[in-house]
Amino acid sequence: MLQPVDSIATRDFKIFGKQQLDKIPQLQSLDPETRLNMRAVAEVLPFRVNNYVLDELIDWDNIPNDPMFQLSFPQPGMLQPRQVQAVRDLLAANAPAARLAQEVQRIQYSLNPHPAGQKSLNVPQDAQGQPVAGMQHKYRETVLFFPMAGQTCHSYCTYCFRWPQFVGLDDMKFASRESDSLVRYLKEHPEVTSILLTGGDPMIMRTEVLEQYLNPILEADLPNIASIRIGTKAPAWWPYRFTHGEDADAFLRLIERVRGTGRDMALMAHFSVKRELETAVAQQAIRRLVNAGATVRCQAPLIRHVNDNAENWRDMWRTQVRLGAIPYYMFVERDTGARGYFEVPLHSAYDIFTQAYSQVTGLARTVRGPSMSCTPGKVMVEGITEVRGEKVFVLKMIQARDPAWVNRVFFARYDEKATWMDQLRPAFGESEFLFEPGLRAMNEAGRGQVWCEDGLRVA
Ligand SMILES: *Cc1c(COP(=O)(O)O)cnc(C)c1O
Repeated sequence: MLQPVDSIATRDFKIFGKQQLDKIPQLQSLDPETRLNMRAVAEVLPFRVNNYVLDELIDWDNIPNDPMFQLSFPQPGMLQPRQVQAVRDLLAANAPAARLAQEVQRIQYSLNPHPAGQKSLNVPQDAQGQPVAGMQHKYRETVLFFPMAGQTCHSYCTYCFRWPQFVGLDDMKFASRESDSLVRYLKEHPEVTSILLTGGDPMIMRTEVLEQYLNPILEADLPNIASIRIGTKAPAWWPYRFTHGEDADAFLRLIERVRGTGRDMALMAHFSVKRELETAVAQQAIRRLVNAGATVRCQAPLIRHVNDNAENWRDMWRTQVRLGAIPYYMFVERDTGARGYFEVPLHSAYDIFTQAYSQVTGLARTVRGPSMSCTPGKVMVEGITEVRGEKVFVLKMIQARDPAWVNRVFFARYDEKATWMDQLRPAFGESEFLFEPGLRAMNEAGRGQVWCEDGLRVA
């Protein structure tokens, strides 16, 4: 039975960062050694957790193995033992802040903080050739927008590919204070049909603030924009954002207002572990969003220690369908951060996906994956098979920097250890993948790509 919203108690939002690790009641029973290791890793990778995650989502009888604990708390295995040791030594010796920061940064830079050409290739330019702040435009139909006020989260995921911005490695210059330049850009680019607000988590913003970004878009004459999407983990990390209080109701009205302009309002909800979908308040949040007219589409990466089993995905997809949400993407963990700890070989990712996919109805088979968001585009592992005696991965471009690549399949030599696109080689003795000549041309042009109505032009 769905609990009525007033029978679900709300709570005050309390967060704990690396400085407050020792204040978390549930950690008091851990031995000091473990806590010091966690503290050391939290210097390097993002850490922030709130009281809902601590009290409702983590199973404290099952740590360190509990997937929610792995998702939210730093683990020693996320760094190399000598890296953990180096930071521990500095913490134990009460080293000067500058010395600690220097060591921490050295480790952070060893973790490939900026993969997939995000800085160089995705930043769009205005008509004068100037970069437009706060936006990325990689796929023709969709522009990503990074509102300045939405660049943090209710809790951090240990595997986040945007981790550099949460540890202060990236400044926030790429985020935008207002959406006027976005509106200008969209007027010059009628090929764009979807705006995706992302972060961080835009749902960290009060509705009023969110409206300051969205109103100029809603009031502008942008007939081609068919959907506004918000990438968020708030339904998992802080579902009260949608269930309790004035601000929650104001957001539901905003959904109605966007729908009233004849557009889809989609929450791209990040759910990693089935536990996140099981609480009464999370289910109520999704129901309210759907009732208000939003589309809730669900996605997450496949992460070792967190959700690398078919049962978790099967149950999540089933629950999502039950709640009126739509399974959308299963991603492959990106090649950044603590990837050595989190990565799953592509063949296992394909197996887990297939096992889960085989146990749901067609209503949940809207999900696509496992998909790698890499420099040329989103590459899905479509199959593993043998062609004329050669074992191969069948890959498919489901999104691409050049629309000409979309929906094309291609083949890579089977590799049991491969966890990411850059470790794959073309099958059948071919020398390059279909996207490589085009990508080379973009890289050589240096300024990346420029979109125009009829397609891609290299600047
Ligand atoms: C995934 C992604 C999108 C959205 O792609 P859809 O397939 O339309 O959901 C847009 N831009 C970037 C950079 C992405 O990684």
